[in-house]
Amino acid sequence: MRAMILEAAGQPLRPAELEEPVPGVGQVRVKVQACGLCRTDLHVVDGELTQPKFPLVPGHQIVGVVDAVGDEDAGSSPALNVGTQVGVPWLGWTCGRCSYCLSGRENLCDEAKFTGYDLDGGFAEYAVVDHRFAFPIPAGYPAVQAAPLLCAGLIGYRSLTMTGEAERLGLYGYGSAAHIITQVARYQGRRVFAFTRPGDVASQAFALEMGAEWAGDTAQDIPEELDAAIIFAPAGELVPIALKAVAKGGVVVCGGIHMSDIPSFPYQILWGERSVRSVANLTRRDGVEFLALAPQVPVRTEVELFDLEEVNEAISRLRTGQIQGAAVMVVDHAL
Ligand SMILES: [Zn+2]
Ligand SMILES: [Zn+2]
Repeated sequence: MRAMILEAAGQPLRPAELEEPVPGVGQVRVKVQACGLCRTDLHVVDGELTQPKFPLVPGHQIVGVVDAVGDEDAGSSPALNVGTQVGVPWLGWTCGRCSYCLSGRENLCDEAKFTGYDLDGGFAEYAVVDHRFAFPIPAGYPAVQAAPLLCAGLIGYRSLTMTGEAERLGLYGYGSAAHIITQVARYQGRRVFAFTRPGDVASQAFALEMGAEWAGDTAQDIPEELDAAIIFAPAGELVPIALKAVAKGGVVVCGGIHMSDIPSFPYQILWGERSVRSVANLTRRDGVEFLALAPQVPVRTEVELFDLEEVNEAISRLRTGQIQGAAVMVVDHAL
């Protein structure tokens, strides 16, 4: 099968011809239709996440169709049927036995395996996945539109839930996750304030189009205090900036898996019961909830399409802030 593989950190992905994978016990094989590119993929390529398998097929926003089912072990729930269209997210396997798994926090499982990191992902014609960690795609979503829901949508949604009932919501870094979460937040009756890199008027216009009531860059004065902020950009210097923007009792949620160092800041801007927290990974429950909510909103994703072999081009465009919305690799052109 065709695949794009990463052999070492800091290298471009390279095209490879791999054996078609065979699903094992409890697994299904997915014929990949499309796979979204996520900023986490850049952190893997750049070596900022340090423990990937090599060689690796990256990609963890997979949409495809189950085309083979592995043997089931006794007592497991039925595997997904051949022909079912599924989405495969970052969380690929958990132990099911540790204190995190047993308390509804499988996102924190120490033994967790992640798609496109510990497990081969979706920048290939086929992916083999644990059937318990694949979600049926809601009706009405073409594969390329559904792909960004699998991480930008899902982890964005988990970040949004961490803001509680916050009405005035700031989004820092206006890419794939922010454009999805703007729509969900508006649907929930919240007000969205979008922050971009200085001078990025194209993303500011895009944010307003998606439903933000204000868009500007982080150097600008904001029109009013925020109740919460979500930082999607991997820039630690945004944490004190966002803390200064939130009202007393407000939370600043860091939605990314990697961030540059956070500069020191005066206690005064944390005082007043403000808090800073991270969001790590996702639970399957987040997946089920968000994929039920997305068609109700309805969430529409803005995508820029690339061929599988163009993934390095997509990576460099995402890195330099040139992707409006989400970058998606089209793997199967017979969609
Ligand atoms: Zn991701
Ligand atoms: Zn566990």
